[in-house]
Amino acid sequence: MAAPVIGVTTSRMLNKQGLPAIYVMEAYVQAVAQAGGAPLLVPLGLGEQELQGIVARLDGVLLTGGGDIDPQQYMADGHPRVSEVDQDRDRVEIRLFKDVLQARLPFLGICRGLQLVNVALGGTLYTHITDQHRGALEHSFFPDWPRSHLAHTVQVEQGSWLASILGEQAIQVNSLHHQGVHKLAPGLQVSACAPDGLVEAIELSGHPFGLAVQWHPEWLLNQAGMRSLFRAFVEAAADG
Ligand code: MN
Repeated sequence: MAAPVIGVTTSRMLNKQGLPAIYVMEAYVQAVAQAGGAPLLVPLGLGEQELQGIVARLDGVLLTGGGDIDPQQYMADGHPRVSEVDQDRDRVEIRLFKDVLQARLPFLGICRGLQLVNVALGGTLYTHITDQHRGALEHSFFPDWPRSHLAHTVQVEQGSWLASILGEQAIQVNSLHHQGVHKLAPGLQVSACAPDGLVEAIELSGHPFGLAVQWHPEWLLNQAGMRSLFRAFVEAAADG
């Protein structure tokens, strides 16, 4: 059987000549490939019809990390620490995610990907956790730490999809984010939290496979649970 094709969302940067380029961190691509998926990058700058044409050929979508979502997307004020906003990426990913929901394609969100799922479904974000979430731990081990640095524990909700995939109640994760879920969108369930109460994983029940995590499992593939997470996603895409 052919490997399921997993669309991987991308970021925009300026290359050394100052020209716009579209890229993704290779760790995402390798994590999908190791789990048995065929990763396919979904570029930015596309219209609705082109995105629909791509989604029609995908078996699942990985929503990757990256810069902050424009606070205007969730009716919040700006914050001096909001950075790397790309309104075209926000537009493309929200459109893509809505097509994914309609096509009932499995999705996995990572970091910004979790935030994108929450915003696309009508939730809001903390624009800067340390200023807005009482008693917050440090979540922003970026960019001066190894990406696999284990920053905090997360407690996994009993009975959640995530619990059944990980097979553990408490795990150690990395943390490379300064934003997080404030108001949870309707239809989403919290499937894991940090010790300070911050949402670290969400799932969309009633969807074939709809899961998102605030940490970066693609840098923690030495943990069996993180490999299981990618494998469960790719297997759901293969079943679709
Ligand atoms: Mn965290």
